[in-house]
Amino acid sequence: MRLSAICGDYDVIVIGAGISVGTIARELSRYDLKTAVLERASDIPYGSSRANSSMIHGGFDDKPGTQKARFCPVGNRIYHDLHEELDFKFKKCGSFVCAIGPDEEKHLEMLLGQGKANGVPGIEIISGDTLRAREPNVSCEITAALWSPSGSIVNNFEASLAFIENARQNGVDLFMETEVTGVLFSEDGSHVRGVSTRRGDFTSRVVINASGVNADKISRMAGDDSFIIHPTKGEYFIFDRRVGDIVTSFFFSCPSDKGKGVTVTSTADDNLLIGPTSVHQADREERATTRPGLEEVFEGALRLIPNIPRSMAITTFSGVRANSKSGDFHINALSRPRGFVNVAAIKSPGFTSAPAIAVHVANMLKETMGDLVKFSPNTKFVPERRHIPRFADMSMEEKERIAKTDPKWGQIVCRCESVTEAQVVEAIRRGARTLAGIKLWVRPTTGRCQGGFCSPRVVEILARELGVSPLDITRHGDDSYMLTGATKAPLLPGEPL
Ligand SMILES: Cc1cc2nc3c(=O)[nH]c(=O)nc-3n(C[C@H](O)[C@H](O)[C@H](O)COP(=O)(O)OP(=O)(O)OC[C@H]3O[C@@H](n4cnc5c(N)ncnc54)[C@H](O)[C@@H]3O)c2cc1C
Repeated sequence: MRLSAICGDYDVIVIGAGISVGTIARELSRYDLKTAVLERASDIPYGSSRANSSMIHGGFDDKPGTQKARFCPVGNRIYHDLHEELDFKFKKCGSFVCAIGPDEEKHLEMLLGQGKANGVPGIEIISGDTLRAREPNVSCEITAALWSPSGSIVNNFEASLAFIENARQNGVDLFMETEVTGVLFSEDGSHVRGVSTRRGDFTSRVVINASGVNADKISRMAGDDSFIIHPTKGEYFIFDRRVGDIVTSFFFSCPSDKGKGVTVTSTADDNLLIGPTSVHQADREERATTRPGLEEVFEGALRLIPNIPRSMAITTFSGVRANSKSGDFHINALSRPRGFVNVAAIKSPGFTSAPAIAVHVANMLKETMGDLVKFSPNTKFVPERRHIPRFADMSMEEKERIAKTDPKWGQIVCRCESVTEAQVVEAIRRGARTLAGIKLWVRPTTGRCQGGFCSPRVVEILARELGVSPLDITRHGDDSYMLTGATKAPLLPGEPL
């Protein structure tokens, strides 16, 4: 076994800090285990957990018998139970799959059958007119729709942060900017002994690989080449909140010869979101949006909701799916080396399924690896955690009351999203280190001006709170520096804005 500097010895090491790892780490924190999460990025969430449709799917879209069909409806129920306990935004909006004409209506019948077989509650097919009575902006071309009342929308940033933060409160260690570069084995190669990273080695008895688009690379480091990840990009438009109420539910198209079909929804923060495309690409990291991709999205969305005003679009983004050839999740424990577990190819509905997968993985470890790590309950486990108070959602009385507790609550940093200095400071206290990190916690830069007004102020606060120069502040880690030189004297530590 080759060892360089040992950064820590753990029972379980979990690679990646997306929703899969957040939920697994929280589940493992119910036990008296020493667990570490290793994440290569500077902010959480980073991979596909950061850029997706944020739909908590009902579970009708997957063939009965697949892992997706097994975990999705259970994950959906767990989100309904957990969002208050972990305090992340969650909208119980229901979803519609919309059909235009008899061929697409046949597709709805197929989904209805699948949904019933998968145990999805309350699904039914309704007429186009019934749909329009509930959602007046829907196209008059739509002839029928599959209604799934358990479909919901989550704030994916808040949910990802909530699981991992609660895991940390319960004893899990999180190492950011810690890229895994190799897997360590016992002398005879029969057992895993940890991982090597750019910081040094971390030893452990169990390694769980949930590294998104890189999961096949890391599994190969453990000697397993049984699957390959095929990255697929999905592009989106996001619109001003002023048109967020054009729909109240989540809308899917039926797949057609033009593609899988785009979706239209109002996000957990009431922005209108349309997308995604589905385009294979060789590059696992490439996330630029493209003119053809965005045209496809807009055209597809207009088939569902014809009066979407393009001028109200505020930005575009894309996410990269981790597909495998089978199309299903790839969750297994290797027989050699023992102790190595893949939670891979977690494409959609992976966000929905994550809490159910986490319970499955914890049970699998308990049942098959009890000789490697001891599972006794963590008697200090605390299931609740609170998000940073959301100033924008407070009543005027609440705003006045909280501003009296600390003047930073009265200092608006981001006008578009009504974010205060106190929220930014609290996000830094809880671990945000970059402009993107602050955005993921409390939303500055996500409004109409896209950071034109608030970015410099957030940079100043980051520099002041971290005791560094504003020149050292990055957008998202590495060398993504925000500033090239000072135009004004920087704030001194503790100096008010
Ligand atoms: C366009 C799109 C739309 C989607 N829509 C939905 C939806 O509406 N509903 C739904 O349920 N699901 C949806 N999904 C799927 C969902 O986003 C994913 O299933 C889920 O986010 C996967 O989470 P994860 O934690 O497995 O992976 P990720 O979130 O990708 O996390 C993997 C992490 O591993 C880290 N990492 C990678 N390599 C290393 C390394 N060498 N060392 C350390 N860390 C490493 C990455 O930085 C990353 O943080 C969508 C996905 C996409 C792309």
